[in-house]
Amino acid sequence: MTCRICSADVSVLLDLGTSPPANSLKKSPEQFQDSYPLVLEICDNCGNVQLRDCLDEEALYKDYFYVTPSSTLLSRHYDFLQSFLFKNNYLTSNSFVLEIGSNVGLFLDHIKPNVAKVVGIDPAQEISEIANQKGIETVCDFFNEESSVKLKDQFGNPNIILARHCFAHNCDPHRMLKGVTHLLDDSGLFVIENAYLLNTIENNEFDQIYHEHMFYYSIRSMKALLAIHNMHLVDIIMSPIHGGSIVFVAKKVSAEDKISSAVGKYTLQEDLLLTPSAFKHFVENTWRIKDTLSRLITGLRDGGWTIYTYGATAKGNTLLNFIGLTDKEIKYCVDSTPMKQGKYLPKSNVKVISEEESQANPPDYFLLTAWNYRDEIVNKVRQAGNYTSQFIVPIPFVHIL
Ligand SMILES: [Zn+2]
Repeated sequence: MTCRICSADVSVLLDLGTSPPANSLKKSPEQFQDSYPLVLEICDNCGNVQLRDCLDEEALYKDYFYVTPSSTLLSRHYDFLQSFLFKNNYLTSNSFVLEIGSNVGLFLDHIKPNVAKVVGIDPAQEISEIANQKGIETVCDFFNEESSVKLKDQFGNPNIILARHCFAHNCDPHRMLKGVTHLLDDSGLFVIENAYLLNTIENNEFDQIYHEHMFYYSIRSMKALLAIHNMHLVDIIMSPIHGGSIVFVAKKVSAEDKISSAVGKYTLQEDLLLTPSAFKHFVENTWRIKDTLSRLITGLRDGGWTIYTYGATAKGNTLLNFIGLTDKEIKYCVDSTPMKQGKYLPKSNVKVISEEESQANPPDYFLLTAWNYRDEIVNKVRQAGNYTSQFIVPIPFVHIL
């Protein structure tokens, strides 16, 4: 196999077995679903970490069920990101902002009062309709060179293009970058927010690995990718959201570009920490978590305790399927998204119920499959009057709160 950034040979880093697409919930437990391999590969030449097998994007995203949840944590993150962009003049009140993979438009809605114009583009039919109904103009399409031509004709050149938690979601980043370089003028910025490989590795977040995540970017691999398109990094900021995210600020290379000192600082840190031994520990810890969690959950089940998972998340499906947990061990999965309720998790067949149903009949233990919202979930459960259920946190190591 070869690297989809630089075309060099790659080697296998971690094999998680097979899993169905993680966001494809089932209407009934009997519904058949294909499973596909989840194999992580690494390129020594450019540092790229990629998923070996890429699923068809139409199949993955056309009937997408992931709706950005309304959450105080996310809203705080939006404030953080917005203030970073304004403080550095990356955004001004005259900016035209285009967001790729804008989902229901929550972030655009957040910044809309402070900029000149916002437009979203998202391939999911139902989700882009919701955005448009809320007043966030959203084009339903994949972002690539072809759609960038249409966007330019219709809206003109954006000053800033955002790709938040979607840039790694397609098999060929070169296609997306061709669209970006077509659309941006020489002073325009491309801002990519993504899970950060160093955090994934250091915190044993193997559950970040699912079919939508086709790349696991580091500063090194992002620089290599941008260089191919005559672009470079001018700034970086780190955020604790989603288990550790990185925000890359990139632009077309020009002699006048001021490069923030953060780029050098974080590059040095990454060179020191993202070592072969860090990758080795990540793989060992992944197998250790599988073993510990499997013994804990089956032990609790055999002792007659009830267990629900909290969060019908993509990462939760990776976790359950890798460990081999099903509706035999897990009674229900709780999720606040109405679109997911009444459906079944792929492969594990666990039924998704609402928070109200869970509250009426709480379990002995919640396994936190949305551990990135841990404090928010625990507070919500306690404030609703449930003081008895305990919480099992799987990552970065298995523990009970
Ligand atoms: Zn490579």
